[in-house]
Amino acid sequence: TNASLQTRKQKVFAQGQGNLYPIFVERADNAEVWDVEGNRYLDFGTGIAVCNTGHAHPKVVEAVQQQVAHFSHSCVMINPYESAVALAERLTQLAPGDSDKKAIFVTTGAEAVENAVKIARAHTGRRGVVAFNGGFHGRTNLTMGLTGKITPYKDKFGPFPGEIYHAPFPSKLHGVSVKDALKGLETLFKVDIAPSDVAAIIIEPIQGEGGFYVAPPELLQALRKLCDQHGIVLICDEIQSGFARTGHWFYTEAAGIEADIMTMAKGIAGGVPISAVVGKAAIMDAPPAGGLGGTYGGSPLGCAAALAVLDVIEQESLLEKARWIEHQFMETLGALKQRYPDLVGEVRGAGAMIAMELVKDGQADKPNPELTKALIGKASEYGLILLACGFYGNVIRLLPPLTIPEKHLTEGLQALTKLFDDC
Ligand code: PLP
Repeated sequence: TNASLQTRKQKVFAQGQGNLYPIFVERADNAEVWDVEGNRYLDFGTGIAVCNTGHAHPKVVEAVQQQVAHFSHSCVMINPYESAVALAERLTQLAPGDSDKKAIFVTTGAEAVENAVKIARAHTGRRGVVAFNGGFHGRTNLTMGLTGKITPYKDKFGPFPGEIYHAPFPSKLHGVSVKDALKGLETLFKVDIAPSDVAAIIIEPIQGEGGFYVAPPELLQALRKLCDQHGIVLICDEIQSGFARTGHWFYTEAAGIEADIMTMAKGIAGGVPISAVVGKAAIMDAPPAGGLGGTYGGSPLGCAAALAVLDVIEQESLLEKARWIEHQFMETLGALKQRYPDLVGEVRGAGAMIAMELVKDGQADKPNPELTKALIGKASEYGLILLACGFYGNVIRLLPPLTIPEKHLTEGLQALTKLFDDC
């Protein structure tokens, strides 16, 4: 049973890798997940924005099965294979902007960010990296340093690498406008580090763990200009917002900017661990041979899965589908906000990456993490898997597979409404 497995897990798993739901998965199909007791759930979290093409998509399953039967590993740095080249060709084409691009593959999101920073430092010969308050870039030492939120990601884990600086990110909650954010950067450049010492500015075009705050296009455009002016590498971390999730292949497209380097992971391969760093060729070629990569970077299984995922996104028109999902979400969340104006605060995001803030007395500056925790805990009783995020943990985020059938989306949104009505 779920309970007996949870007891076993707690005996042997350190609490640092604890689980949100005491529900153990037995199988899953597109948006549906079944636990070991046969209970069924609709997955509105997709393992943190990973299964954009649903669980066990037949085309992804077939691609991985075929690959594993041929060879499962050889190391792209020893004997490469065609699928890795084909994937790099596809991703360099898909990355927004006209510049010639190159790619490298690693395994996790954090590793992609680490490598993006290494490349930016090698290219510029500079040390500083500017990240944003509320941002999240991973759990390794450098990416913890870049991450803007302390609890639970950084508490007790220091010291972090030096030469990392944080600038304000625009949000209603913290009363920060785009102007304030740019002013914050200006002050940082005056007081803490000269722009000529900054290798990179890293930003999530939509903050994921931070609460689905969308970087306003004016901010991204201003950062593009600032980076051009000072020879700083602009890194866009699209690890959560990429691969059609927002109704665009990558959200930087929406702001009409071209990043110097992009980091990609999560939705890239439907759950097979692989990540990518894609950027302008001249920048990507800065590190010497042997300076980047890793044993499993760009594994054949990851490449096969990713190529299948890209095909599915195109063949099933998932960019359009994500925009349609946004419309359905906005209707339901808008109705919930009207019905519960004291509890539901800002609704924000893009495409199938939408979140709602829960507050007290209808006030944005009174976050309600207690209610958020209670609703998320209860969601599984309503057949839903939901995730939280946000600076205060008071944001419910919705991240269903983009392949979700209409009937399951409707069923999930009805369950969400009932969850609110009953609580
Ligand atoms: N960057 C962003 C924007 C993320 O959302 C995440 C994961 O949530 C990461 C980096 C880290 O990815 P990983 O957990 O695969 O290391």
